[in-house]
Amino acid sequence: MIYRGFKDKDISLLGMGCMRLPTIDGDDKKPDEQKTAEMVEYAMKSGVNYYDTAWGYHGGNSELVMGRILKNYERNSFYLATKFPGFDKESFLKVPEIFEKQLEKLQTEYIDFYLFHNICETNIDEYLAHKDNLISYFAEEKKKGRINHIGFSCHSSFDTMVRFLEAYGELIEFCQLQLNYIDWDFQDAKSKVLELNKRNIPIVVMEPLRGGKLANVPEDVLATVRESRAGITAPQLALRYVESLPGIFTVLSGMSNYEQLVDNINTFSQPAPFSDDELKLVYKVSEYFMNGNVPCTSCRYCTKYCPQELDIPRLLGLYNEDKVTNGGFVSAMNMNTIPKEKRPSACVGCKSCEVVCPQQIEIAQVMSDYTESLKKNHFYHE
Ligand code: SF4
Ligand code: SF4
Repeated sequence: MIYRGFKDKDISLLGMGCMRLPTIDGDDKKPDEQKTAEMVEYAMKSGVNYYDTAWGYHGGNSELVMGRILKNYERNSFYLATKFPGFDKESFLKVPEIFEKQLEKLQTEYIDFYLFHNICETNIDEYLAHKDNLISYFAEEKKKGRINHIGFSCHSSFDTMVRFLEAYGELIEFCQLQLNYIDWDFQDAKSKVLELNKRNIPIVVMEPLRGGKLANVPEDVLATVRESRAGITAPQLALRYVESLPGIFTVLSGMSNYEQLVDNINTFSQPAPFSDDELKLVYKVSEYFMNGNVPCTSCRYCTKYCPQELDIPRLLGLYNEDKVTNGGFVSAMNMNTIPKEKRPSACVGCKSCEVVCPQQIEIAQVMSDYTESLKKNHFYHE
């Protein structure tokens, strides 16, 4: 296993993400404890020492299951991460109650890595409004030794991430970021990584396979990288990619079965980061996933012709996100922050925008498709 330094700790480059544990009958709220225990046993034996859960994973049962499993191991043989559920506004009114409950569920006296969960456009204002209370409470818990390190996870834009960092200042020691070879440009992860590097804030990678999407790459697309790395598989490519980026101390993979765990452990048994030339080949693979996306360049020629005053390039960017994730939560979550009269459903189909669009995007049709897609997304609130 490869290890990376974080302050006085050596952390395994592969961390076990506990949001996609094996389940019983496909029910997300019922993690399969026996299968998870077998996975943890193999992970521990293989040197994986970072386990990441959260209040909300598996309907609250990830913390319970991981607590029962991890109590069978020496507490100083692994690092435990969990998160404050700031995606729910009610949580800000019961901070001590939640933290005490987490210690109880995880059957531990301390958390090694404690994160503010999912800083994003929908909750940044709450995080800023409750800043003084959160900082003083968690700084005190750190002083008492019940938390070792404090950080945050982030699916937000660059600007929102920086607003959070500016507000929380020195309390923040690390950041968990969605990072993979698609999102380097697509979600502008590059700017976020460079900013975190500049601030000396180490990074935990999440979604290195973008929810499993990058585990399936057609053979002819993979062939580009195999010119340099014979026989590399799609999951290996995704993990090697994040291994190659600066400032990373662990990579969380939300593994749902034993085979994925064994594969990932094998990949990180020895260091083998990509060279700069190889990274260029990897970015070629990302073009495969971007095919079919709306090619908006954000020139904004269209916006002044829209009678509804829609922020067309922003909506098209979210539409692309929706397509790439097959209706995942990021696009819906962002859309929930946009006033209803500025959403795709407000488009009246006049096509004034299309006349001036140099990319000849069929914007009215896209708005209509996107409206339909959002209606089916359970993260979206009309
Ligand atoms: S088609 Fe829709 S997005 Fe385009 S100008 Fe008309 S209302 Fe605005
Ligand atoms: S004119 Fe076309 S390319 Fe330019 S911002 Fe509008 S939709 Fe995007």
